[in-house]
Amino acid sequence: MMLLPCPWCGPRNVSEFTYGGERTPRPDPATATPAEWRDYLYTRRNTRGWTAETWYHGNGCRQHVVIERHTLTNETRSTS
Ligand SMILES: [Zn+2]
Repeated sequence: MMLLPCPWCGPRNVSEFTYGGERTPRPDPATATPAEWRDYLYTRRNTRGWTAETWYHGNGCRQHVVIERHTLTNETRSTS
């Protein structure tokens, strides 16, 4: 069983969450090039180690939360 640290509900079973993907900074719409938008929309870093991810706690507080997860060990830690 894997527990995710929800900032509002505390540690909860991963089955209560929906994975939202890697957290990537959005480029500035006024200055971004088409290549930067393509990378933002389609390119993932697929990091080996700690990465920030967005999760939706649909069977709990119904909030989108950012959680750091180690991709090799599945250790998690809260970002807030
Ligand atoms: Zn929650």
